[in-house]
Amino acid sequence: MPTLFTKIAKGEIPGDIIFEDHLCFAIRDIQPQGPIHFLIIPRKEIVSVDHAMNEDQYLLGHLLLIAGQLAREHGIATSGYRLIINTNKDAGQTVPHIHVHLIGGRQMSWPPG
Ligand code: 5GP
Repeated sequence: MPTLFTKIAKGEIPGDIIFEDHLCFAIRDIQPQGPIHFLIIPRKEIVSVDHAMNEDQYLLGHLLLIAGQLAREHGIATSGYRLIINTNKDAGQTVPHIHVHLIGGRQMSWPPG
């Protein structure tokens, strides 16, 4: 059963895809938590960081490099941004397919809620 994000990548569910390559894609979050809120998602359906394996090392690094590229392209690299990977219940992960949140365009606080 494909995940929600795979269905978006395949066009089976509407989604604002802003970037694609052979390893991953990025969409606008449907409930943005800032002026910029993208999700960078591997095509491979890895459930969470907790499920990632050694063979995923390159792929996971690639997601961060794409996040940086998107931040530069969308003008928030210098002002700053936050990358978040919610993992499992306590962190509030709701979609069981690894995704990096890229949030920026506003001042953020720490610690996160
Ligand atoms: P998580 O809570 O798993 O870290 O993040 C899941 C994210 O997916 C949430 O920020 C949520 O707003 C977003 N989301 C859930 N359903 C959809 C959808 O159908 N389309 C898009 N673009 N984002 C979604």
